[in-house]
Amino acid sequence: MIELGEQSYPEIRDSVRRLCAQFPGSYWQALDRDRTYPTAFVETLTREGFLSVLIPEEFGGSGLGLGAATAILEEIHRSGCNGGACHAQMYTMGTVLKHGSAAQKSEYLPKIATGEIRLQAFGVTEPTSGTDTTRIRTFARRDGDDYVINGQKIWISRAEYSDLMVLLVRTTARDEVAKPSDGISVLLVDMRDAVGHGLTIRPIRTMLNHATTELFFDDLRVPARNLVGTEGNGFRYILDGMNAERILIASECIGDGRFFIDRAAAYASDRSVFGRPIGENQGIQFPIARAHVMITAAAEMVAKAAALFEAGLPCGSEANMAKMLASEASWFAADMCVQTHGGFGFAEEYDIERKFRETRLYQVAPISTNLILSHVATHVLRLPKSF
Ligand SMILES: Cc1cc2nc3c(=O)[nH]c(=O)nc-3n(C[C@H](O)[C@H](O)[C@H](O)COP(=O)(O)OP(=O)(O)OC[C@H]3O[C@@H](n4cnc5c(N)ncnc54)[C@H](O)[C@@H]3O)c2cc1C
Repeated sequence: MIELGEQSYPEIRDSVRRLCAQFPGSYWQALDRDRTYPTAFVETLTREGFLSVLIPEEFGGSGLGLGAATAILEEIHRSGCNGGACHAQMYTMGTVLKHGSAAQKSEYLPKIATGEIRLQAFGVTEPTSGTDTTRIRTFARRDGDDYVINGQKIWISRAEYSDLMVLLVRTTARDEVAKPSDGISVLLVDMRDAVGHGLTIRPIRTMLNHATTELFFDDLRVPARNLVGTEGNGFRYILDGMNAERILIASECIGDGRFFIDRAAAYASDRSVFGRPIGENQGIQFPIARAHVMITAAAEMVAKAAALFEAGLPCGSEANMAKMLASEASWFAADMCVQTHGGFGFAEEYDIERKFRETRLYQVAPISTNLILSHVATHVLRLPKSF
C-alpha cells in the first residue's frame, strides 16, 4: 500500500516528534523575545542526521529523497517548532551536488553532512532588483585567480550562521548578453574568510525571528575555483534548487496548518462559554473543518511535487502551486486559530501569535503569490506575458 501525506515515513516522523518535544513553546518564546538563534535545536537536528537526508550516502548523508525531507519539516512545524533557522542546510547544497566539480563535492559535501560546515545562506535578492532576478547588480569581476565582488544583497537569511554561502552574481552585464538570464554565475563564498575582508553583514530585525540580514560586498576576493559550473550559466543552476526550496517550504506550511488545526480543535472542545464547549457551535467548527480540508488538499499537491522532483521529472509548476496552496492554507488556519482562541490567541504563552507571524512569511518568501500566479498564467496556461 502506498503511504501518502501524514502516513508517509512513520519512523522519521516519530523521531522528529520526540526530538521536538525537547524544545517546547517556552524555548521558542524566549528566543523570539531577543531574536536569538535556536542553536541547541539546530545542533540536535544536525546530530540526529535530519539535515543531511538529501546528501547521497557516498558523501556521508542518508541519501533519502525529498519526500523524507518534507516529512521532517512538516513534523517540526506541526510540533510548534520552526525549521526556518536551518532548513536551508538541507537543500542549498543541491547546487553543489548537481552542478559542482568533483573537487567541490568531495571537499564540502561530507562536512555539510556532519554539520562541520554550515551551508545555509543563499544570496539572491537585492534591494533594487526585487523579484526580477535577472536585474541583480552584484558583480564579480575576474582578476587573475580570483573574482572580485562588489554589490549588495538583502534578506539573506542565516548569513551569520553559515560557513559557506551560495551567491548569485553577474559576471557579464545584462546589456552585453543575448538573454537576460545569461551572464549570471554562482560562487561559493567562504564566510569565515569573507567577513571583515570585503563582506559586511547587517542583521535586519523583522516581525519574526528569522536571522535575516543585509550583505555589503566591497572588493571581496573569492578564489575562481569557487565558481560552481561554468561562468554565465548560474541562473539555470539555481532553478532546480528553487523547486526543492518551494516544496520544502510548502511542507513547513502544511506542518504549521496542522499545528493550528490541532490547537484549535483541542481548545474548541475544552473552552466553555454560555455553558457549553465553543466547539459545539458550527460557527466555530466550520472554519476548523475548512482549514483541515484546505491543508489536506495542499498536502496532496506537496506530495505530488515532491514525487516528481524525486523522479527527476519537471516539477516547476507543481512546486509553485504546492507552495501557493500550502501558504494560503496555513494562513487561513492561522487566522482561524487566533479567532478560535479569542483573546488567548494573542497571548505569547499559547504560541499561536508566534506561529501566526511565522507562517505569514511564506506568502512572500521564497517567492510571492503574484509571481506564482504569473508563472501559472504564462507558462501553464500560455496567456500573454505581462513582463
Ligand atoms: C524574512 C525573509 C527572509 C528571506 N530570505 C531570503 C534569503 O535567504 N535569500 C534570498 O535571496 N532572499 C530572501 N528573501 C527575499 C524574498 O525571496 C523576497 O522578499 C521575495 O521573493 C519577494 O521579493 P521582494 O521583496 O523584492 O518583492 P518585490 O519583487 O519588490 O515585490 C513586491 C510585491 O509586488 C508584487 N509584484 C512584483 N512584480 C509584480 C508583477 N509583475 N505583477 C504582480 N505583482 C508583482 C510581488 O508579488 C510582491 O507582493 C527573504 C525575505 C524575507 C522577508
